[in-house]
Amino acid sequence: MFRGSIMKSKELFERAQRVLPGGVSSPVRRFDPHPFFAAGGKGCILESVDGKSYIDYCLAYGPLILGHAHPRVVEAVERQIERGTTYGVPSEGEIELAETIIDRVPCAEMVRFMNSGTEATMAAVRLARAYTGRDKIVKFEGSYHGAHDYVLVKPGSGAAAAPDSPGIPEDTVKNTLTTVFNDEEAMVELIDGMGDEIACILVEPVMGNIGCIEPENAYLNFLRDVTRENDILLIFDEVITGFRLAAGGAQEYYRVKPDLVTLGKIVGGGFPMGALAGPRQIMENIAPAGSVYQAGTFNGNPVSVTAGLETLKILDDKMYSSLERMGSHLRAGLRDLLSDMDLEYQVAGPASMFQIYFTEDEVRNYADAKKSDTELFMKYFHGLLERGVFIPPSQFECCFISAAHEMDHINSTLEIAEDVLSHLKN
Ligand SMILES: *Cc1c(COP(=O)(O)O)cnc(C)c1O
Repeated sequence: MFRGSIMKSKELFERAQRVLPGGVSSPVRRFDPHPFFAAGGKGCILESVDGKSYIDYCLAYGPLILGHAHPRVVEAVERQIERGTTYGVPSEGEIELAETIIDRVPCAEMVRFMNSGTEATMAAVRLARAYTGRDKIVKFEGSYHGAHDYVLVKPGSGAAAAPDSPGIPEDTVKNTLTTVFNDEEAMVELIDGMGDEIACILVEPVMGNIGCIEPENAYLNFLRDVTRENDILLIFDEVITGFRLAAGGAQEYYRVKPDLVTLGKIVGGGFPMGALAGPRQIMENIAPAGSVYQAGTFNGNPVSVTAGLETLKILDDKMYSSLERMGSHLRAGLRDLLSDMDLEYQVAGPASMFQIYFTEDEVRNYADAKKSDTELFMKYFHGLLERGVFIPPSQFECCFISAAHEMDHINSTLEIAEDVLSHLKN
């Protein structure tokens, strides 16, 4: 479908390594012996410059809930680009997108747009600290909130392999506390005696950067209660789950309303975007309404705004039910296949998120996830890749289904997975 380059992935990677650190622009994209280079994507299919096509369950690590190049999004963006790509003055689309987000996301009454999820969590932490007058923040081992200093403590995603990056002064992260997901006692202990120094708990309602770990029964309700009792702000990092689990994200799906939410990935409709949203009372502290500084040359740029808005317009209840159905079918199918095999495994994920862990025990937190057989996982990854299925090249990422997938794709994926899994042990 797409024309490849004269150079194949292997040569392109050699060339890339001379000018891009590690040959890629973001760490997780690199895998051995070399990543494939994209020639193009359409719907749920991603094509390489080597002329191979893949059913895509990576979907750019989450944003592409409508698949690649949805015609309506492409058309809306083309129309916008003709009229300019960024203005430096406000444009009406920003209001419309904010209104749409407020309409869907329970805790949102006001929105600040920025350019990435990283920026959104950075702003959320600053706002929480300013609002509460406290410095300490709590995150979970294995949660990923972007690549900025304050949150790169026991992180997930590409950093799960080498946590706690050099170059971050100890002083910068001395106020970043970590604890164990799904463990109420550990949280109670942490807050005990220190509760009045903690500005916020920052949590991925479904941990999506250490594979895929769901919150256990009422764990999010517990976080809601414990934060309220201690005047701590509860921040849901919904950069993955926002507009994915449901129109209102995880806070709708699990019926727990946080104080603030960070959004990214899907909200930009395939273009760079991040957003911070919450109640007026807190959000009005952001400059220029208030004094908490946040700014960006490309904030609310009309291209990302247009793509995001069109994407949210297309996403409807029928799509969410269909995504849920495909996810359940795929997870049940994988469990069926694996139950016939001599492998230790867990199949995880809600709605259109999924992952296999090659481990014996249920995965409830970071430590459990780290017990998985990552070598076996990479064999599984390469087996799928050889047969035309692309999932993220890491045990510690999450796989996604898009609205462009159909049951037929899911069923052929299960057939391919059966072949791969049956050959894994030898
Ligand atoms: C991807 C991600 C981020 C960072 O978003 P970027 O746009 O990559 O900066 C933050 N939080 C979560 C939960 C993410 O999955």
